[in-house]
Amino acid sequence: MKQRLDTLKAEVMAALNKAASSREITEVKQQYLGRKGPVAALVKELGGLAPELRRAAGESINAVKKALEAEVELRLSDFERREQDALLASETVDVTLPGRRLPLGSLHPVTTVMSEIEDFFGDLGFEVAEGPEIESDYYCFEALNIPKDHPARDMQDTFYVNQDAVLRTHTSPVQIRVMEGRKPPLRIIAPGTVYRRDSDITHTPMFHQVEGFMVDKDITMSHLKGILSSFLKHLFGKKREVRFRPSFFPFTEPSAEVDIQCVLCNGSGCRVCKDTGWLEILGCGMIHPNVFASVEYDSTEVTGFAFGLGIERIAMLKYGIDDLRVFFDNDTKFLRQF
Ligand SMILES: [Zn+2]
Repeated sequence: MKQRLDTLKAEVMAALNKAASSREITEVKQQYLGRKGPVAALVKELGGLAPELRRAAGESINAVKKALEAEVELRLSDFERREQDALLASETVDVTLPGRRLPLGSLHPVTTVMSEIEDFFGDLGFEVAEGPEIESDYYCFEALNIPKDHPARDMQDTFYVNQDAVLRTHTSPVQIRVMEGRKPPLRIIAPGTVYRRDSDITHTPMFHQVEGFMVDKDITMSHLKGILSSFLKHLFGKKREVRFRPSFFPFTEPSAEVDIQCVLCNGSGCRVCKDTGWLEILGCGMIHPNVFASVEYDSTEVTGFAFGLGIERIAMLKYGIDDLRVFFDNDTKFLRQF
């Protein structure tokens, strides 16, 4: 056994000495020290030896195996280092190669629709105003002619921060904040985030609205109709029919809902428009005298109109999206389409 081990060791050392690269060292390793190599074969033979010889023989096989493995590792790392150095020395950097492009993001569809709305009203001389998202009960409701215990508060499932502060349920408080600080004429739109306790395929607890209003001497329902009709035709196409329906909001009088001809069936009736041919798109009206009173405007002197719309709803209709929640899933497969 001793002699066979010595011969084997000499054979492996000779093979290692001949090897000229890390690949050849690895080949020697596989050939002699692998599972089907001569060392493994010697270990197998141990089973046939007398028990008293087995232990000593096993130990010497192991010692030779360990020594050979150490030798292989040493030479392997030496070759690898030299090969790496050679590779580095031979490689040059081509500074004329174009850089690697990072994937560009794109605007969120809500942002796109929002800036489209801002552009349209901007062209008509409307300014953009902003207000806080945590709002007092006064600005969110009372100043807008929705007193405490008024049933209209039920229309807006409100998140209360405490008794007097809420997450704003609409962007209308901005109307009060702007009018408090300034005198007419005013042409303002107020886009922003609003919150309601509501969650299903057409509602999310956080969504976006644009509030708009215009106050001056002699502003009438005609201004409202003219501006909103051309706004909706701008968004949904010149041929899209628009209609105004009487409605109720506490902060406007008279009030109207505005519908557009269904974008899916063009008015012939489908599941989305519930066979009416029309889609409700925004609420509007002439600003209520009580709202003017709360900002100390004289409603015999000035009049104005106001409107509000949900931005996600517009985006859903424009892009044919049937689930509102995908806007906020942050799924790049969805967002990459825009
Ligand atoms: Zn329809």
